[in-house]
Amino acid sequence: MERKLIFQKDMNLQTSYIRKPEIKMEDAANFLPSKYLREKLPLPSVGEFEVIRHYTNLANLNFCVDTNFYPLGSCTMKYNPKINEEVSKFEGFIDIHPYQNIDTVQGALELIYNLEKLLCEITGMSRFSFQASSGAQAELVGMLMVKKYHKIRKAKKYKVIIPDSSHGTNPATAAMCGYKVIVIESTKDGLVDLDKLAAICDDEIAAMMLTNPNTLGLFEENILEISDLLHKKGALLYYDGANFNALLGVTKPSLMGFDIVHLNLHKTFSTPHGCGGPGAGAVGVREELCEFLPVPLVEKDKKGRFYLNYKVRNSIGRVRSFYGNFSVLVKAYAYLVRLGEDGLNRVSHMAVLAANYLKAKLKDYYLPASQKPCMHEVVFSCINQAKNGVSTLDIAKRLIDYGFHPPTMYFPIVVKEALMIEPTETESKTTLDDFVKAMIEIDTQAKQAPHLLKNAPLTTPLKRVDEVKAARFPVLKWQPENLE
Ligand SMILES: *Cc1c(COP(=O)(O)O)cnc(C)c1O
Repeated sequence: MERKLIFQKDMNLQTSYIRKPEIKMEDAANFLPSKYLREKLPLPSVGEFEVIRHYTNLANLNFCVDTNFYPLGSCTMKYNPKINEEVSKFEGFIDIHPYQNIDTVQGALELIYNLEKLLCEITGMSRFSFQASSGAQAELVGMLMVKKYHKIRKAKKYKVIIPDSSHGTNPATAAMCGYKVIVIESTKDGLVDLDKLAAICDDEIAAMMLTNPNTLGLFEENILEISDLLHKKGALLYYDGANFNALLGVTKPSLMGFDIVHLNLHKTFSTPHGCGGPGAGAVGVREELCEFLPVPLVEKDKKGRFYLNYKVRNSIGRVRSFYGNFSVLVKAYAYLVRLGEDGLNRVSHMAVLAANYLKAKLKDYYLPASQKPCMHEVVFSCINQAKNGVSTLDIAKRLIDYGFHPPTMYFPIVVKEALMIEPTETESKTTLDDFVKAMIEIDTQAKQAPHLLKNAPLTTPLKRVDEVKAARFPVLKWQPENLE
């Protein structure tokens, strides 16, 4: 009895908050253009349970790291520990506002400060900025700093060297910054060709953008010679750190001669990503480039109080609002603190082991793009399968029927029929073995029953979609069928 009363009291309390709408529905016609008015809207009339069931079934159609193996090369789709999510939702992190007084957000600033220190230690850089929201935006920050660095030195440099195996964002960034992109062909082993580099390395080169390990999953063994060649010409070396999962605690970009580094925190340091975000591109620099970093930087005064420093001498300025995607920074910090030095080192060793395991198990069926041992990812060419008339796309689509996300396809562009597989450190041997089994079965099907591949996926609610049409004419919301 008493319970019911309390319940009713609460109900009254609630309704008192609800403000009566000032505009009546009948009035809508007076201020809305007639083209937005509908006579009737045939929305389905269903109960709560049906709505729940509908959305739960829709959600179950999602393919994600938490449901299945996701070996999408270069994207580092590792398991994202749930504790990171919990920590990022702490009240003190989630209920703060960028315009709050600095004294009330000391903890948040301390976290950014500490994260910066950890990344400096891991990469050997002097300082980091966390403004950029992605790797691509971090590249923009990096290349704008390159530009300013040379401008201040009055150096006339207008070319940027980029290997032909590079990620598309590298040449795009250089071009956006007004640089002429000089593409350098890789050796047949898939590495930077030192002779060719020496031949094109002149005084007009502003920088070289390099991924190490490169997108073929290979470590650039001649990295010290490469950095020497560039530095002798007064050029800078930019590290696209999207593949840093292979090198954590093993070596540092500073030891390889890099001047500017970006890390995709959402990849290597574990934030759920894909479909555009949220991400964080941390940009680190050597001591002499600190004066160009975007503002503000988080600093600590003599009394141990954290503050935002907007007075960075030659800063390139802001590249986005406030301090970046803060919740991604919290997750990266939680991840780092939890793993510690030994844990991080183990991440890379296990990631490299997993990729080499797949390479060893599949190399008799699919042609490896390189004979060299790979790092955290392995690239195959499906040209043998293509002889039977099936493409890499067909193979990738068939993997969906086995419950696996397709690996990256047709990239890097230097490999014909490329299939780029990045298993990451968090997959068990059982999963890797299941994947190997599926890949071998698919190879057999390519010869004996190619129609299975041509029509794949056979088990999904949507079959092959017209990707061009989807991009050109996206239908992004539910449309009632019989709405005039
Ligand atoms: C993912 C990736 C990028 C771009 O990073 P985003 O965070 O997706 O913008 C750049 N280079 C390489 C090698 C990558 O794998």
